[in-house]
Amino acid sequence: MLTLRGLTKRYGEKTAVDDLTLDVAPGKVTGFLGPNGAGKSTTMRLITGLDRPTSGSALVQGRPYARLDRPLRTVGALLDARAAHPRRTAYRHLLAMARSNGIPARRVPEVLEAVGLADVADKRAGSFSLGMSQRLGIAAALLGDPAVLLLDEPVNGLDPDGVRWVRTFLRSLADEGRTVFLSSHLMSELELTADRVVVIGRGRLLADGTVADVVAAG
Ligand code: ADP
Ligand code: ADP
Repeated sequence: MLTLRGLTKRYGEKTAVDDLTLDVAPGKVTGFLGPNGAGKSTTMRLITGLDRPTSGSALVQGRPYARLDRPLRTVGALLDARAAHPRRTAYRHLLAMARSNGIPARRVPEVLEAVGLADVADKRAGSFSLGMSQRLGIAAALLGDPAVLLLDEPVNGLDPDGVRWVRTFLRSLADEGRTVFLSSHLMSELELTADRVVVIGRGRLLADGTVADVVAAG
């Protein structure tokens, strides 16, 4: 479970996230919709402790990220699909992440298999297409077998097959009882995927409901 309470982030005069209060439930795919600059990435960075709120809180399983005992076992995030070092193989990239986070190495082949990259485990990340990079990013997010998954624009730039794969995979993760929270700037990317859509604009919550509710609200 993910809980945002009055979450606010200012950069100087600019308010990137403005008093956001939200509960994101397990077992569902929740979409986070808003145009570029709306505050989606900032929210995800606040949840994963990469940035600190100006006020308010972002809690995962009742705790701020910094106070989680085993952060990667609680929350996995795909924030930047091209985060892997281009000269590292997919396998080495994940193994390094696992080692530095106390995750058993056996998870590496498991997550590669889960995202369909087992066959290219020994290829360098720099040779991957965007779709493969997204899968690698999702594999990395899954390493700790987390209860909560955050994905920032996971289908941006993917071809229709890639979009379909992500959609089906995220559904299966939610069906396992995980909390899946993904951002997009396009309703079309969320409408077949999300059980619920939360709309953000200029850092503020604008709408919240099923796809049909949100579309009806304009
Ligand atoms: P989104 O992910 O929805 O595109 P962001 O969270 O990236 O939006 O950005 C929200 C707003 O905050 C934008 O106006 C952006 O320019 C601003 N912003 C984000 N990060 C910083 C930062 N480190 N310094 C200053 N402004 C920032
Ligand atoms: P199991 O109890 O065998 O792990 P699951 O339904 O959890 O059953 O997963 C089936 C397979 O799919 C796993 O063996 C694993 O390779 C992959 N898988 C599913 N979910 C995850 C996940 N979150 N992280 C890594 N691998 C996963």
